[in-house]
Amino acid sequence: MDFRENDEQQALRKAAAELGARYGYEYTRRKVRSGEHPDELWLEAGKLGFLGVNLPEQYGGGGGGMYELAIVEEELTAAGASLLMMVVSPAICGTVIGRYGTEEQKRRWLPGIADGSEIMAFAITEPDAGSNSHNIATTARRDGDDWLVSGRKIYISGVDRAAAVLVVARTEDARTGRLKPVLFAMPTDAAGLEYRAIDMDIAWTDKQFLLFMDDVRLPADALVGAADAALAQLFAGLNPERIMAASVSVGIARYALDTAVAYAQQRAVWGQPIGAHQGLAHPLAQIKIELEQAKLMMQKAASLYDSGEDSANSMAAGEAANMAKYAAAEVAVRATDQGVQTLGGNAFASEYGLAALLATARVGRVAPVSREMVLNFVAQSSLGLPRSY
Ligand SMILES: Cc1cc2nc3c(=O)[nH]c(=O)nc-3n(C[C@H](O)[C@H](O)[C@H](O)COP(=O)(O)OP(=O)(O)OC[C@H]3O[C@@H](n4cnc5c(N)ncnc54)[C@H](O)[C@@H]3O)c2cc1C
Repeated sequence: MDFRENDEQQALRKAAAELGARYGYEYTRRKVRSGEHPDELWLEAGKLGFLGVNLPEQYGGGGGGMYELAIVEEELTAAGASLLMMVVSPAICGTVIGRYGTEEQKRRWLPGIADGSEIMAFAITEPDAGSNSHNIATTARRDGDDWLVSGRKIYISGVDRAAAVLVVARTEDARTGRLKPVLFAMPTDAAGLEYRAIDMDIAWTDKQFLLFMDDVRLPADALVGAADAALAQLFAGLNPERIMAASVSVGIARYALDTAVAYAQQRAVWGQPIGAHQGLAHPLAQIKIELEQAKLMMQKAASLYDSGEDSANSMAAGEAANMAKYAAAEVAVRATDQGVQTLGGNAFASEYGLAALLATARVGRVAPVSREMVLNFVAQSSLGLPRSY
């Protein structure tokens, strides 16, 4: 086992950090305030090969893995210039299409996802199902060779920027019982699909949407993977999602910690810098330790995933991805809170961005999978405890 990143990974980390620094939090703040998309940063990251670094080379990707994609997301976020749709477009959708798509689907979608010219959103969450994905009610029924898809989705990120949404549904024949997911690449301009932005109080450049699907007609080749596939087809995308969510949280924690440390070194109200007071220094030191622990867990999850430990035979990557997401979200919440405390009144000035980051960091405890559902998974799968629900 070698805890050092190889030369290519180190170079990627450096290049992504440089890109993030050129945009920084100021760029994010401007975009959030104006309601604009982070198109310049997104397209530049695509051009540099960062967005598709995990996708196969023959479809325009970089031929790397989740480890490399997580490096990019962590560094951009740590610089204050997070790209939320990286969690969705290349990580979830790119992975699922790369693994289960037909040759034609791979050629249709992967190059655009890799260079950033096309974005694919992902929709599983429903108003009445919530964390219980087995209760989703979006239904697909056959009509000749076509499919007709109907249902509702909620909190779907980035739909207004997306060319298509990877929609998780169930077939009419398997409408009840344990979820047998069926996935469709649904163009955002498909007849019968409507979407509406939800007013959100988080400082993110991507908005969340309600989707209304009313007999959306899709051709047979919109089906990604098999109609009666096992859950594995869906989990192929959800483990990368958790690793990437962890990288966002690690990046947020780093941004908050760096901001707090820089401030604590120069702010002096009793003659010496406030960072000399243990009441501030120790919580920051604790966060540094917890941050390194969370990052290590994220790197373990990504390494296991990239070595194929998420097959029917191994839950190792899934277990590590859940633990990484949990640990990273916890430290992001603590780091932003302690960051605010360190900056005092200045924390609430827009210039520093820490107060706005509180709510953003807090999302990590709820999405893409809540803290309680991770604890349920660990209690049942890792510890073998019985389930209560
Ligand atoms: C900013 C943001 C972006 C998002 N983007 C997307 C997206 O792009 N695509 C998408 O499909 N979804 C997206 N989501 C949705 C997100 O995945 C869900 O919000 C999340 O899975 C939780 O589901 P819920 O909101 O329905 O909460 P609920 O399931 O209603 O849960 C509410 C509370 O009850 C707890 N709870 C539920 N069941 C149990 C249990 N068995 N044991 C203990 N506690 C339990 C939960 O942990 C939580 O604390 C996004 C959400 C946000 C906030």
